[in-house]
Amino acid sequence: MKDYFKQYPDTKGFFKEYGGAFLPPDLQEEMNRITDAYHAISKSHNFISELRSIRKHFQGRPTPVYYCKNLSAKYGGRIYLKREDLNHSGAHKLNHCMGEALLAKYLGKKKLIAETGAGQHGVALATAAAYFGLECEIHMGEVDIAKEHPNVVRMEILGTKVVPVTHGLKTLKEAVDSAFDAYLADSENSLYCIGSVVGPHPFPMMVRDFQRVVGIEAQEQFFEMTGEQPDHVVACVGGGSNAMGIFSGFIEDEDVELHGVEPAGLSDKNGEHASTITFGKPGIIHGFKCYLLQDEKGEPAPVYSVASGLDYPGVGPEHSMLKDIKRVKYQRANDKETIDAFFELSRLEGIIPALESAHAVAYALKLAKENPQKSILINLSGRGDKDIDFVVDKYGLPKE
Ligand SMILES: *Cc1c(COP(=O)(O)O)cnc(C)c1O
Repeated sequence: MKDYFKQYPDTKGFFKEYGGAFLPPDLQEEMNRITDAYHAISKSHNFISELRSIRKHFQGRPTPVYYCKNLSAKYGGRIYLKREDLNHSGAHKLNHCMGEALLAKYLGKKKLIAETGAGQHGVALATAAAYFGLECEIHMGEVDIAKEHPNVVRMEILGTKVVPVTHGLKTLKEAVDSAFDAYLADSENSLYCIGSVVGPHPFPMMVRDFQRVVGIEAQEQFFEMTGEQPDHVVACVGGGSNAMGIFSGFIEDEDVELHGVEPAGLSDKNGEHASTITFGKPGIIHGFKCYLLQDEKGEPAPVYSVASGLDYPGVGPEHSMLKDIKRVKYQRANDKETIDAFFELSRLEGIIPALESAHAVAYALKLAKENPQKSILINLSGRGDKDIDFVVDKYGLPKE
């Protein structure tokens, strides 16, 4: 996989057959403008040095790599975590939000616009907007607003305007439409900011590039600690941004096995999981081509995961390609395994993981048991404070 990043995506934003941009002409024009600007600005000395300074002084990077001695003693293997939970605001999402907001500043934009489902992307973008003194408008389904009250309050404290979306099912899909409309109505002054390695070109490329810092740091840190590369790298996959971040540090080295973990939810029945790569077929959603969970009519199917950050019926085009070329293996963890892993990491290492990240931990524990000689690096994409009430109300504390 030499020169991987020069090859993918191609100039039209394709990762083999996936990705691209399937958009109405007015939106396509906007995406072309963003692509050109990104290519010009992201390589400039000023942009790179400002982003570097933000990562160090505002976000608190580099985040550490940590050896889990208690977990390793119990499960076997040598288990390590890349601690994105210690990134400012508690997850990896700020890595690309700061990059997108910095791009907005260089483009002279005044406002950031996005949708949010569970609110994590909204909070990260609201944080970035506050830092840069930009306005921020987050579109959110009314159903999600009611469910995710703490994140709504966080966004409002940070000075963001939360726009309730009241049509259709009043959840993420309608919020995307509403945010796109708002952006098109004012594209002169605003930048649309996507929350993962999804959407039309250039977003899957841009978001991956901004997340690459995770993999670059992790590769250096792991080598410094152990004198070798990890045997396995594991990350959860919703849209796929945290996974692309850490994978990118190792993708050119085929000795390192990469595992993306999808939510297996409650069962393999339609609507009870969000295992897009495992069960999906190629299709188009939100302006790009990827593996997609579809109903009989080819429409995006309903999805479910105990971790709301993972319940998306599509997945990044790059992951779709990496599945086909077999560079990454896509695995699954169900709700029960995830909740068990949530408590194991909390009790054995003193680290409460986000439920999204706990999917990666759950699969890594299985892998460790089966491979006691191997080293495993997990991307701990976020911290679990947001999930504690939900977990304890729904599952109680483990009986031991
Ligand atoms: C949003 C989120 C995810 C899922 O998004 P990806 O783009 O797949 O990384 C994973 N972990 C945490 C903590 C999140 O907030």
